[in-house]
Amino acid sequence: MVDLMAGLATASKAYELAKDAKATADKFKNVEMQGQLVDLMSALVDVKAEAVAKSTRIAELEEQLALTRAMTFDGELYWQGEGDDREGPFCQRCFDDAKKAVRLQPGSTYGVPWNCKVCDSDYGSYKASPSYIPDGDPSF
Ligand SMILES: [Zn+2]
Repeated sequence: MVDLMAGLATASKAYELAKDAKATADKFKNVEMQGQLVDLMSALVDVKAEAVAKSTRIAELEEQLALTRAMTFDGELYWQGEGDDREGPFCQRCFDDAKKAVRLQPGSTYGVPWNCKVCDSDYGSYKASPSYIPDGDPSF
């Protein structure tokens, strides 16, 4: 990352030097050199734009890597941290598919214990609600 930032600074400095050289070529009305320096300046702008794009992509990948390293998979759900500091759970489908850490929401008392509000995946064993037994009705 530091090397890329140094490269960006070098490209900026090279652009400024080319600009100064073009001013000199303009002063001496050297049309051929003016054209070459304009081409050089254009190439340096392209190099700098590509370096910025690569730097942005590296930052995104570093963020993804840090997130992946922070996650642990228990066979069904993802979690962050251990023991009392453990956070989550996070959706397995969203994380495996899009590398997004989406917190699962607790389900109702009966049904599935966890639900993802992004992809609507359910997690955990289904818990059926007890049968309704009206008071005093012996037929139930
Ligand atoms: Zn999800």
